[in-house]
Amino acid sequence: MIRYSLQCADGHGFEEWFDSMAEYDRRAAAGDLACPDCGSHEVAKAISAPNVARGAAAPAPACPATGGPGCGRCAFDA
Ligand SMILES: [Zn+2]
Repeated sequence: MIRYSLQCADGHGFEEWFDSMAEYDRRAAAGDLACPDCGSHEVAKAISAPNVARGAAAPAPACPATGGPGCGRCAFDA
């Protein structure tokens, strides 16, 4: 059994169990999957959280006075 996190077109997340990846594909193609919140059949596998978290780099530290390099009186001096 495989558990997939699914999400409808309105953004409702839910989970569903499948015997296999092929069963997910078959049921998705048949329109057999529906959102329990709104009944939408536009359901897709949700992007897993670790993938969402990546890509947004932490902002570089900057001096609050100059918005960039150190102003001469702060910890961001080169
Ligand atoms: Zn929904």
